[in-house]
Amino acid sequence: ARRHGAGSIRAFSSATLQTTRDRSSLSIEVSEALENGDIIPWFQPQVSTDTGTVSGMEALARWNHPEHGIIPPDEFIYMIEESGLIERLGEIILYHAFTALQAWDKAGIDVPTVAVNFSATELANPALVDKIRWELDRFELAPSRLTVEILENVISYSENDTITRNITALSQLGCGIDLDDFGTGHASISNIRRFAVKRIKIDRSYVTRCDIDREQQDMLAAILTMAERINLETLTEGVETVGEHAMLAQLGCGHVQGFSIAHPMAFDLTMEWMENHRQK
Ligand code: C2E
Ligand code: CA
Ligand code: CA
Repeated sequence: ARRHGAGSIRAFSSATLQTTRDRSSLSIEVSEALENGDIIPWFQPQVSTDTGTVSGMEALARWNHPEHGIIPPDEFIYMIEESGLIERLGEIILYHAFTALQAWDKAGIDVPTVAVNFSATELANPALVDKIRWELDRFELAPSRLTVEILENVISYSENDTITRNITALSQLGCGIDLDDFGTGHASISNIRRFAVKRIKIDRSYVTRCDIDREQQDMLAAILTMAERINLETLTEGVETVGEHAMLAQLGCGHVQGFSIAHPMAFDLTMEWMENHRQK
């Protein structure tokens, strides 16, 4: 029988990868998959609550596996982290994100920004800002086209000077800085200031049933009021219903992202989605 000690939680938590055998062979495959181009970003729109127009697309990693199909990041990013390949993943996702921006531009499709998730390991690399600047130049993109998503907890606990310096430099360069999963970690107002955060990305846990649950509503209202007072822009993620979307607009949240607008989709589907969205 399976034991259910603390250490086994992760090993048996996956929906897609049923067995430990699947997992151990996968962690070997993951580096190959990276270089083969089997790991690429899908894109999920972010929409302005004022105008309804797309303000950005978040790049979310997907592994297109020949046997298992599309594997979501929670099931393989830790393997990449453990294999020391997280920076390589970052480079690949950034490359595809900029390639997509260039393609949308060429097609006359208005996607103002692309948002990319950066891990603590990547943010601790002294060469990060140069790498990003080099890619921006190569693709002839203004720095403002890139939004850097950083987990709230990375700035909450970090005593790392390089992380501070990198985030500040990216902000000064003109990139957007979004504080991801806001409300789940321990960022203080002084941390938010010190790291030049421009926008908070309010976690999904605050959104669920906010249109009918008074407590959720009050919590959101408090966060949004705080943000407005200290001049932070706001984006809420995990917006699943039209009711939640409407409530967030009413409470003054600037931008929303979630299944109520669109699920993450492969690049090829974004063009058509944008066309349909524009016509609405
Ligand atoms: P995240 O950055 O918080 O991304 C949001 C997650 O919520 C995504 O899961 C997205 O597909 C999902 N989502 C979007 N809208 C809704 C909704 O309305 N309802 C619900 N229930 N979920 C929604 P995904 O794509 O599986 O990504 C999981 C996490 O993996 C991300 O969480 C992010 O932390 C990490 N990740 C994804 N791509 C990358 C990457 O390129 N680099 C790094 N370092 N991390 C990544
Ligand atoms: Ca994110
Ligand atoms: Ca998030």
